Amino acid sequence: MHEIFLPREVFEEIVAHARREAPVEACGILAGNNSRVEKYYPMRNTDKSSEHFLMDPGEQFKIMKEMRHSDLQMLAIFHSHPYTPARPSEEDVRMALTPDVVYLITSLNDVDNPVTKGYFIEEGTVTPVPLRIGDESNDRL
Ligand SMILES: [Zn+2]
Repeated sequence: MHEIFLPREVFEEIVAHARREAPVEACGILAGNNSRVEKYYPMRNTDKSSEHFLMDPGEQFKIMKEMRHSDLQMLAIFHSHPYTPARPSEEDVRMALTPDVVYLITSLNDVDNPVTKGYFIEEGTVTPVPLRIGDESNDRL
C-alpha cells in the first residue's frame, strides 16, 4: 500500500478515541476498499496499558465477520501512543504480524497537537505510508 485515504470524520474519530482512552493506549481496526478507509471499529485494549495494546480475540473475530458481511477489507490497525512519538516502538515492530495493513499511530505526546502517522511494517522493516486525509477522497470513487 503506497498511501491510505482517510475521510475527515474517520480521522477525527480515531483522534477522539485516542483522547478518550488516554492515558491507556486506544486501539482499533480501519476497514475499507482500495486503500480508502470507510469505517473505524474502535476496540478495547485488554492490556489497559500506556505502552502496549492487545485486542480481544473475540471482539476482533466479531469485527472481521462484520467486515466480511459489509464487503470491507481490513486496511489498517490503529493504536495510540499517550506519551511517546507517533512511530512504532520496538514491540510494535515485533508484533506487526498482519500482512498488507497500514499501522496507524496517533501520538498524544503533545496533547494539544496530536500527530497521526502511518507505517507499513514487514519483517522488521518500517516504511512510512503517506496519509491522505480529507473530504475530497469520495470524488475518486
Ligand atoms: Zn505502539
